[in-house]
Formats: sequence, C-alpha cells, structure tokens
Amino acid sequence: MDFMYRYTQEQEEFRSEVREWLAENLPADINRPLESSHVDAHTWEQVRQFRLRLGEKGWLHPTFPKEYGGGGLSTEEGVVIREELEKADLPPFYDNSLDLPAILVWGTEEQKREILEPRLRGEKLGWQLFTEPGAGSDLASLQMRAVRDGDDWVLTGQKVFVGGDAGYADPDNKVPDDVQMGELFTLAVTDPDAPRHRNMGYFMVPGDTQGITVQTLDLLVGQGKRQVFMDNVRVPASRLIGGETQGWQVAQTTLEIEHGGGGEVVPRNSTFKKFLAYCVENGLDREEHNEQLLMKAYIDNEVQRLLGARNHWMYSTHQEMSFHGSHLSLWRREAGLRTADVIREVGGLKAMLDFEDSMAPIDGELEVHQRASLTAAHPGGAIEIQKVIIARRLGVSRTRERAAPTPSTATARS
Ligand SMILES: Cc1cc2nc3c(=O)[nH]c(=O)nc-3n(C[C@H](O)[C@H](O)[C@H](O)COP(=O)(O)OP(=O)(O)OC[C@H]3O[C@@H](n4cnc5c(N)ncnc54)[C@H](O)[C@@H]3O)c2cc1C
Repeated sequence: MDFMYRYTQEQEEFRSEVREWLAENLPADINRPLESSHVDAHTWEQVRQFRLRLGEKGWLHPTFPKEYGGGGLSTEEGVVIREELEKADLPPFYDNSLDLPAILVWGTEEQKREILEPRLRGEKLGWQLFTEPGAGSDLASLQMRAVRDGDDWVLTGQKVFVGGDAGYADPDNKVPDDVQMGELFTLAVTDPDAPRHRNMGYFMVPGDTQGITVQTLDLLVGQGKRQVFMDNVRVPASRLIGGETQGWQVAQTTLEIEHGGGGEVVPRNSTFKKFLAYCVENGLDREEHNEQLLMKAYIDNEVQRLLGARNHWMYSTHQEMSFHGSHLSLWRREAGLRTADVIREVGGLKAMLDFEDSMAPIDGELEVHQRASLTAAHPGGAIEIQKVIIARRLGVSRTRERAAPTPSTATARS
C-alpha cells in the first residue's frame, strides 16, 4: 500500500490551473478571522460569492456526478483541489454537506435532481439537525415528531448544537439569514409505536419554511452553534429521503462519512505544524523535555495523517469499510487533546493568549486550538461512542454491526 500521492504530469498541470483560478477568484484582501463568529457581513458576502464561483466551476464538490451539479472529476483531481484550497487559507468556509452522500445512496432520481444541484453549486448551505437536548450519544431516543397530513409531513420539536460557518448577517442578534439556513437535514419520529431504529424518517427541510425559529448559542468554540425549534413545520412528502421508517438507516450513511469513512487528504490539525515552526524559530525545541513532547505530538499527527490517507484510499478504491471511519475519528479526537496538552506545556501561558493580544503566538491560533480541541471530542459521536462502534464492527461486543453504505462502497458491488 502506498500512502503517498504521486501526481502525473497531467495532474500537476491541473494543479497550476487550480492555482491560477484561485489567484483570480479569491479576493486578495479577504479577511481571515479564525472563527466564524468574527466574520463580518462584507467578508461573508465575499465568501458567498467565492463559493458560488467555485460551485459553478464544479470544484466545490469536484468528485460528485456532473449530472447533479458536481465536477465529475477523478479522486486525484479532487485531492489536488482540496490541497490548493487548503494552501489558499480560506476564511471560515464550512458547509455541512454530510447529507449529500445519503441522498446519493438513498434518494430518488427526482430528489437527487431537486436537492443536490443547488447544494453542489454552493447556492444553499446544509445544516445537520440530529442532536436533541435529550438525545446526543443515544441519538435513537430523539423526540422530534413528524405527522403525516395529506401530501405533507408536519414536524414539531427541538434540535441543539447545530453548527456551521454561516457568518453573522445580523451582528446584533447573530442569527443567520434565510440563504444561510438553506437546507436542514433532520430526523423525526414518524411512527411512535414502532421499535427503536425503525420509527423515524430522514427529512430535508427548506430553511425558510414557516414555523422554524433559530437561536444562536455562545459556546466554547466561536463557530456559532444554534438551537432550532420547529413548530408545525410543513414539509412536502417528496422531501422524505428513503422510506418513512427508514430514517435511521439513511442517517447511518451520513454518520459513516462524519465519523471519517471517507478519509482525509488534508489533515485538519494544521495548527500543530505552525506551532512546531514557531518552536524552532524561538528555540523552544532546544530544551530536552520540550523535544520529547514535541516529537510525541508530531507522531500523533503523522499517524492521523496516515489513517486519513488510508481511509480515503479505501473509500475511493471502493473497498469494504468496517471500523476504519471510527478508527480515524477516535484517533483524531484523542490525539487532538494530547496535542493541545503539549502546546500548553511547551508554549506556556502565551498559548492561552487570544488574537487581541499582541504577544499571542501565531495570531492567537493556539488559543482557538485549546478550546476547539475540547469541543472536537464530541461532534458526530463522542470518544466513548467511537470505541463502541469499533467494538461492534470488530465483533467483540454483544451487539454486532456492519458499516453503512456510502456512495463509494455502495457502487463498488454494483
Ligand atoms: C462543536 C460541536 C459541533 C456539533 N455540531 C452538531 C451539528 O451540526 N448537528 C448536530 O445534530 N449535532 C451537533 N453536535 C452535537 C454532538 O453530536 C453531540 O454533542 C454528541 O453526539 C454527544 O452528545 P451529548 O452532547 O448529548 O453528550 P451525552 O450523550 O450526554 O454524553 C456525555 C458523555 O457521556 C458519554 N457516554 C454517553 N453514552 C455512553 C455510552 N453508551 N457508553 C460510554 N459513554 C457514554 C459520552 O461519550 C460523553 O462523554 C455538535 C457538538 C459539538 C460539541
């Protein structure tokens, strides 16, 4: 197995094309705040326009089918685009697109045409409304209700910790506007008498539907977490993905990708790389104890890179996945916490200075990393839950399970 991408001449030429395009289309003067709570309305508009241009080019979701608005490009071209976007150091740009693989696997042709295209082109953003105040790790206990009424489903309930980089169009109340709240993918109980896991549907709710209220929560990370209330929200039956009690299965495709089943070509923890360079520049690495700690964190981050590359290779070569997604997720979370400890111990108090302090190393990125490493242990299933999944997939638990189908693994056997 070769973990390194070796690019052909043709792919390197494609890289030059991507670089040139980025230089022309990403405003040179764009602000790059570290967290989306600091994205002002002007920057948000620049991000929105850039996203649309990227979508039009097919490079927002380069490997998704062209017929639905994706780029129809190869895995390698997709990797080149992601590497170049990483180097371009975009402002907060995240769009929750974890529903898109589920629509590809479970959606009807009509749903793929109606829902995928505006998302793949960047015209609408996605929001994941799974967690409820009483249903986090135990997601199957969720209470949001969906009642059939003629050609519609009527949804009522509450979701929490809904995250994403939307920027704040209205700086006073920090509530995202309708465009930002484009498409909400959610789970609701359709048959309260049916057994667990066979009682819910997976719905795509347009964010501007009447009856939706959004509140922004100021939490430890500045990504703008929201809670969303639905009060008799009418959703056309055509927006139910899969069967009316098949939502749990459909959600597994979303969660399989969220856990890391698609792999990672650009490791998420770029802060440690910058911190290492900062330590070398400032002589912090000369102290023997620091040297030990820094190398421990370096190896942690290198293993994460390799696990991400392994998963991406397995995913894109259509191999049967098992525990691999959660393996990456578990490592990323635990290594993230260990790395944050190392940064604090080696960087000292300066690692806790934020971007407003002129003495903060790396423009305050270390302070953001301290907070983010704590909260990163939770989304899409906490550390303990990843271990439960790995045990079930390895067959060492009283419950056995297999990985959910994803677009790549699903097409492998057809
Ligand atoms: C930054 C961030 C972003 C998020 N984004 C989203 C989003 O966009 N959309 C969304 O729907 N949700 C989102 N979430 C919510 C996230 O999915 C939940 O926080 C997560 O599933 C854990 O649920 P909980 O917070 O209710 O914790 P709980 O379920 O209450 O768990 C508390 C602790 O108990 C442990 N625990 C629970 N059950 C078990 C068990 N059976 N065995 C062993 N240990 C157990 C957990 O590991 C955890 O440490 C986000 C969360 C964070 C922090």
